[in-house]
Amino acid sequence: MEQRALVLFSGGQDSATCLAWALDRYDYVETVGFDYKQRHGVELEIRQEFVSALRSNFPNWSEKLGRDTMVDISGLADLGETGLTPGVEIRMQENGLPNTFVPGRNLIFFTYASALAYRRECKHIVGGMCETDFSGYPDCRDDTLKALQATINLGMETRFVIETPLMWIDKAATWSMANELGGQTLIELMTEHTHTCYTGDRTIRHDWGYGCGECPACDLRQKGFQSFKS
Ligand code: ZN
Repeated sequence: MEQRALVLFSGGQDSATCLAWALDRYDYVETVGFDYKQRHGVELEIRQEFVSALRSNFPNWSEKLGRDTMVDISGLADLGETGLTPGVEIRMQENGLPNTFVPGRNLIFFTYASALAYRRECKHIVGGMCETDFSGYPDCRDDTLKALQATINLGMETRFVIETPLMWIDKAATWSMANELGGQTLIELMTEHTHTCYTGDRTIRHDWGYGCGECPACDLRQKGFQSFKS
């Protein structure tokens, strides 16, 4: 039976690696992205760029890659500002979480994604969430996503599998995974056509890609790349 997957694809390095992982593994892959008025709206433009580059460099993957769906959940931003709201400074909150945490975000992403996966008959829903070296977002935890999988399957009478190939690896290992999946060509696509920086800066090109070089997201990406290269 044909194995079909839906990948949550934001245009960032993690979700781009997950897209390659799914294309390597499944017979048919679709993508879904969410517009929630994030500060780095630049990710949403970059995602199209990445997909075009992926299609032209990897014809075998291109054959398996189906349609892309964008979901507008900008109502989420109307509920309150976060560190991803344009103009708001990134800082730690009293509860120990950075204000880049968007409450409910991943719960909403997966609920929408599963509604789409239901229509498209995709059994596998793939996301780039990671517990290892990220900011301790509670909705990136393995337990959260396993509980959500159970809830969605009960609520929709389905057997979806939420796949998180990056859950237990760090950024260096994420670069290595991309290297194993698509070699230097994929590493170059990742560097040139994915975006991680919280400030949306694409004026400065480093060896690890574009970004301000100073925000927590750039810091992680830079350190991960250096560790992968060494
Ligand atoms: Zn940055």
